[in-house]
Amino acid sequence: NADAAMYHAKGQGRNNYQFFQAAMTAKAQERLHLENDLRHALDRGEMQLHYQPQVEAATRKVVGVEALLRWHHPRLGMVSPAQFIPVAEETGQIIRLGEWVLFTACTQAKLWRDAGLPPLRMAVNVSGKQFRQQDFVATVDRVLAETGFDPGCLELEVTESVIMEDVQETIQTLNNLKARGIRLSIDDFGTGYSSLSYLRQFPIDRLKIDRSFVSHLPGSEDDEAIVNAIIGLAATLHLEVIAEGVETDEQVRLLTSWGCQKLQGYFFGKPLPAEALSEMFEMAGA
Ligand code: C2E
Ligand code: MG
Ligand code: MG
Ligand code: MG
Repeated sequence: NADAAMYHAKGQGRNNYQFFQAAMTAKAQERLHLENDLRHALDRGEMQLHYQPQVEAATRKVVGVEALLRWHHPRLGMVSPAQFIPVAEETGQIIRLGEWVLFTACTQAKLWRDAGLPPLRMAVNVSGKQFRQQDFVATVDRVLAETGFDPGCLELEVTESVIMEDVQETIQTLNNLKARGIRLSIDDFGTGYSSLSYLRQFPIDRLKIDRSFVSHLPGSEDDEAIVNAIIGLAATLHLEVIAEGVETDEQVRLLTSWGCQKLQGYFFGKPLPAEALSEMFEMAGA
C-alpha cells in the first residue's frame, strides 16, 4: 500500500529514497515514462492528426472538421489525448505540440481547399497554457502565413475554464484573433463555471455543448433541460451552437428540432486520418 509505505518512509528518516521508490505507485511510474516518451514523440513521428466531421443539422452536409491529436506509442499503442495532453501541459511540451497541431491542421485544410473541396472550417483545440503564451497570436500569424490557409476558415476551440481564467487578458487575445477573421468557440460548454456577463463580452462565435449532456439524450430530463438552456443562451447571445458526441439518429432528430445548428459525433463519423476522410469526400462527390 503506497500511503502506508510513504508514512513509514517519513518515520524512518534515513534511507528514505528506497522507501519512496517502493512507495511510488505503478501509476506514478507510468506517468514518468509517459512524460519522457512524450519529449521524443514528435521527432519520432509518433504524432498524427485525425479529423472528425462537423455537419449542418438542417442539411446534414459536412461543413467542417475538428482536428484531434493521436499518439501512436511504440509500446503502449494508441494513447488517448485525455491522458497525454494534461502531461504535455504540465511539462510545457504542449507549446511545441500545439504549434505542430496548428501547422499540420492548416496545411491539411489548405490541401483540401486546393484539391477543389468546398471551403471547410478547420477547428483546432488550443490548451490553456498555449492560449496564455505571450506570443500565441504571433504564432498563429506565422502558421497562417507559412501555410497560406484562409484565417476565415480557421476556428480555435478553447475550453470554458480557460476562457474564464483571466478575463481581461482573454478578451484582448480573443479580440486580436477576431481581427484576423479567425473564429472562436468555447469547448465543453456547460462543464465549467461560465459567468454569463463575461460571456456576453467575449468576441466568440459559438458554443460547443459538451458530450456528457448529449450522451444521456433522450431520457434524462435534467440533461434535456441543460441542452435546451444552452441552445437558448446561444440564441440570445447570437452565437452558433454545436453539439458534440452525437451518436444516435434520435439524438440528431431531437437536437435539430431544438434548434441546434451543427452536430458532431460518431453518428456522422469518427475522427479519421486525412486520407480516409479524403476518400469519404470523394465518394460524397464533393
Ligand atoms: P474535445 O475537444 O472535446 O474533443 C471531442 C472528443 O470527443 C474527442 O476525443 C472525440 O474523439 C470524442 N468524440 C467525438 N464524437 C464522439 C461520440 O459520438 N462519442 C464518443 N464517445 N466520443 C466522441 P479525443 O480525440 O479522445 O480527445 C479528447 C480531448 O483531448 C479533446 O476533447 C481535447 O480536449 C483534447 N485534445 C485532442 N486533441 C487536442 C489537441 O490537438 N490540442 C489540445 N490542446 N487538446 C486536444
Ligand atoms: Mg474540441
Ligand atoms: Mg469538447
Ligand atoms: Mg470534451
